[in-house]
Amino acid sequence: EKFSQLPLSKRTKDGLAESKYEKMTEIQRATLPHSLCGRDILGAAKTGSGKTLAFIIPVLEKLYRARWGPEDGVGCIIMSPTRELAGQLFEVLKSVGRHHGFSAGLLIGGRKGVDTEKESVNELNILVCTPGRLLQHMDETPNFDCSQLQVLVLDEADRILDVGFKKELNAIISQLPKLPTDLTVLSNSNKVSSRSCKTQSERSRILKR
Ligand code: AMP
Repeated sequence: EKFSQLPLSKRTKDGLAESKYEKMTEIQRATLPHSLCGRDILGAAKTGSGKTLAFIIPVLEKLYRARWGPEDGVGCIIMSPTRELAGQLFEVLKSVGRHHGFSAGLLIGGRKGVDTEKESVNELNILVCTPGRLLQHMDETPNFDCSQLQVLVLDEADRILDVGFKKELNAIISQLPKLPTDLTVLSNSNKVSSRSCKTQSERSRILKR
């Protein structure tokens, strides 16, 4: 029932407690014990049910267990359909991840640079972005390096996979490394909520839906 009962790093547990998260919501209870074991998840939950933490916690734990450090570069990209949602989840990430020391940056439309103290996006460990702005950054920055990417999160995947983002998304995906990237799709709809896939073809199939 409580986050403290999960097999989480002390850093994540402390970050959750200090952010005043104690008891898991239903979607968190249903998914975290499995996602933390590395299993694929297909879940569905409505807006406001706590999906953000349901993917932020496994992202933090995955990078932590991989001993991800400043030199390892971009390990996770989280895409959100709107600037507002990206900004909100960036705040949750910073709050809950406060003891991890990962560098995180916010790359969203309407701003030229990235919201981070780092000189280059390549030095970030976790990049929170909107699809259009990320693609723009990729186009403008030939040395953008995401070759070490471990996790890709599509927040509100039903909106991101909507026709409006199709061109951007395909262009982005084509520049991401093939394996071993996990693809996590989180959606608002009752259809797809979260899953990860192991192969490029499976990833393409999901994105084509
Ligand atoms: P989300 O669905 O992820 O946008 O979360 C909706 C709201 O619920 C946000 O304000 C979160 O801070 C809050 N929330 C998420 N998980 C928990 C939790 N386990 N305990 C209390 N509040 C939570």
